[in-house]
Amino acid sequence: MMAQYHGLKAEAPDCLLFYRMGDFFELFFEDAHVAAATLDIALTSRGDGAPMCGVPVHAADAYLARLIRAGHRVAVAEQVETPEQAKKRGGSKALVARKIIRLVTAGTLTEESLLDSRSANWLVALAEQGARVGLAAADISTGRFELASVPSASLDAELARLGPSEVVIAEGSEGPADAVIASRGSFQSGEGERLLKARFGVATLDGFGTFDKAALAAAGGLLAYLDRTSQGGSLFLQPPTPRTPEDHMAIDAATRESLELARTQSGERKGSLLDAVDRTVTGAGARLLAADISAPLNEAQAIEARLNLVGRFAEDGTCRDRLRGRLRALPDIGRALGRLVAGRGSPRDLGQLRDGLAGARDLHEMLGQLDGPPALLTQLMPRLRGHGALVDKLSRALVQTPPIDASDGGFIGEGFDAALDELRSLAGDGRRAIAVLEARFREQTSISGLKIRHNGVLGYHIEVGARFADPLMRPDSGFIHRQTLAGVVRFNAPELHDLAMKVAQAGNHALAAEQAHLEELIDLALGQRDPIAATADALARLDVAAALAERAIEGGWCRPEVVPHACFEIEGGRHPVVEAAVTASGERFVANDCRLSENARLWLVTGPNMGGKSTFLRQNALIAVLAQAGSFVPAASATLGLVDRLFSRVGASDNLARGRSTFMVEMIETAAILSQASERSFVILDEVGRGTSTYDGLAIAWAVLEAIHETNRCRCLFATHYHELTRLAGRLEALSLHHVRAKEWKGDLVLLHELASGAADKSYGLAVARLAGLPKPVLARAKDVLARLEKGREKTGGIAAGLDDLPLFAAATEREAEAPDPLREALGQIDADSLSPRDALEAIYRLKGLL
Ligand code: ADP
Repeated sequence: MMAQYHGLKAEAPDCLLFYRMGDFFELFFEDAHVAAATLDIALTSRGDGAPMCGVPVHAADAYLARLIRAGHRVAVAEQVETPEQAKKRGGSKALVARKIIRLVTAGTLTEESLLDSRSANWLVALAEQGARVGLAAADISTGRFELASVPSASLDAELARLGPSEVVIAEGSEGPADAVIASRGSFQSGEGERLLKARFGVATLDGFGTFDKAALAAAGGLLAYLDRTSQGGSLFLQPPTPRTPEDHMAIDAATRESLELARTQSGERKGSLLDAVDRTVTGAGARLLAADISAPLNEAQAIEARLNLVGRFAEDGTCRDRLRGRLRALPDIGRALGRLVAGRGSPRDLGQLRDGLAGARDLHEMLGQLDGPPALLTQLMPRLRGHGALVDKLSRALVQTPPIDASDGGFIGEGFDAALDELRSLAGDGRRAIAVLEARFREQTSISGLKIRHNGVLGYHIEVGARFADPLMRPDSGFIHRQTLAGVVRFNAPELHDLAMKVAQAGNHALAAEQAHLEELIDLALGQRDPIAATADALARLDVAAALAERAIEGGWCRPEVVPHACFEIEGGRHPVVEAAVTASGERFVANDCRLSENARLWLVTGPNMGGKSTFLRQNALIAVLAQAGSFVPAASATLGLVDRLFSRVGASDNLARGRSTFMVEMIETAAILSQASERSFVILDEVGRGTSTYDGLAIAWAVLEAIHETNRCRCLFATHYHELTRLAGRLEALSLHHVRAKEWKGDLVLLHELASGAADKSYGLAVARLAGLPKPVLARAKDVLARLEKGREKTGGIAAGLDDLPLFAAATEREAEAPDPLREALGQIDADSLSPRDALEAIYRLKGLL
């Protein structure tokens, strides 16, 4: 047995091996140590001392879930023959054959119990090809499959958007820095195209779109990995959709994190924008909304189409309520289909298809009555129907609530198959006859406590109390002794035996008939997999639109207007997450306007700490995300030109330290903005430059602000506590000054959270410190120090003295560009043809010295 075990283990060395023995999956050696510690179960040892532990097969899912969540991978080795078959094959001592039937990994799950119904479960394969990375992403629980090729620099952004559960990379290559779980796979270029064609049975991939080498290599890696984990079994994959990052608002990983779009910085859904917006009533709707918010659109027409549908449901409360009521009752057909395709489907999954598809048909009827439906609805409508024959068949075949476990039968309803009904009634008759027999035995033996029972070991048998057993033990009694237990004795009898055989036979035949129907029904459903998946998607889209309408009504949100020019005009804007928190603590959230246009692109926001600067910056970035995701927005009115890239950066000290110096991170991220932001981008910068000394910080903030104004020319909100920056207002014509209002009242600081134009009159730092409870003597001392500092500033002009006659940014950068470059000059002077090797070497040293 151990030889067999080690053989299997060698097939999946990177996995814990679940080795099936009867009713348990056993783990041995190092695997046993790991599993016992992770699962908190007892570690025992075999006779030969090998450590082992086990989990019962019927509860294996729950244990698997915990191991996967803890970052492990599991290979499941099943018995692939019965002990009887093994004996027949190899004699009485033969070992039951076992095979690894599946690798369970975080990215290849389909089981309801192992997945979060409201999140997608992405498996991503990455293939590097020069400066590009091919990215293949599959969610096999619903069959979604995306292929893309992105510049290496955008890889982090794409991964952050997807939030994959598992990433597969080529053998020997380096994975992305903080990928969740990286598995190794094989990526042979050329293989990808072949595997894709074979998988989807096509001669050319043109019908799906165009894919470059990198994307195809990634697809190859993904398919090969899926093949390995399913051990050749099938898995649900829809044809690949090419993903063009340009179709979406670009949001890099740092921005995503800082805006807490789908998760907070501590990794939770609660507290994120998604959580504050999500009113969907189905798992598929929640998954689609998460995808929408993670990848807002970048195309006005598509945004309008979504907004029109949301708008329609917002206007029509009755329709919205009815739609949501019905959707709420529908099962998750996308995931049921995924399980069926993967061969892990159950009668219950078929029942879910029946109910879900029938529900879609009802919705089709209901929505068909709407006058003047928006274009998106008209597009979705045909996908809601067309499953009549399948629904009809499933309805006739299945019982109302089919079981998850098919092995006991009982899922095919009465009246579907006359032969099956006959077998069932035979079995039923037999059971009734056994009841009659029981009464007769009682009468015959005068033992009123005599019972006919059934168990797995003896089958049907007669049971009497031990003290009545003697007469039945006699050879001529007509009873055959089978078993004596503490208080009871068990017998058989020829008549009972015959009846039991009939019951068992009829039962077995009935079970076999049910299994045959199950297979046929599954085949029937799988034949429709693509239209069923389309219906699932349409239902999800309806759920998202109705949920966004619900959210809009609930929060008094407005429909944003998308215009061609790069403006950003928000009246009465609010931050959905902060607003909820503020309201919950019994206070009022103060709405604020934001008005950026092509000639007034940049707002510099000053004011005391805790005054509401960050909140204001973020709420506007979130409004841009929501609007382009096709949602109404938390504002009284909103007009914006499309944002191609969104950036959000927060000064270092607000960020969690992560190994690298936080200031370094801040500068790397700021550099990314300066190199990438276009005139259509939207940037929020919160306290940039704070992570270093005052002089350095001010200098950097100053230069960044100038560069954004002059070079990037994007829309930008810039919050700072460097009051000196307000001097830039006179020099940069598209920059205006704003501050969050505060006032001192009876010695206390009152933060009004209200934006006003102009610079803040003072910094209120000491007042905030008092608010925070700094001890009185310390405050008094700080006041003295401040007075001295301010006096000094009056005399010298403070740290910004001399900045006023600084040349303009444009002039300075021009001068920089024109300045002679010593390296160039030295290179120019070299006459390459006349150099000896030795001179050349010296020249290289000299040139390096000039670097
Ligand atoms: P700053 O960036 O100026 O330090 P924040 O934006 O972090 O300030 O806001 C601090 C706190 O003030 C928030 O946590 C919130 O409780 C409250 N706040 C911010 N903006 C508003 C607002 N518009 N209305 C009401 N309360 C607000």
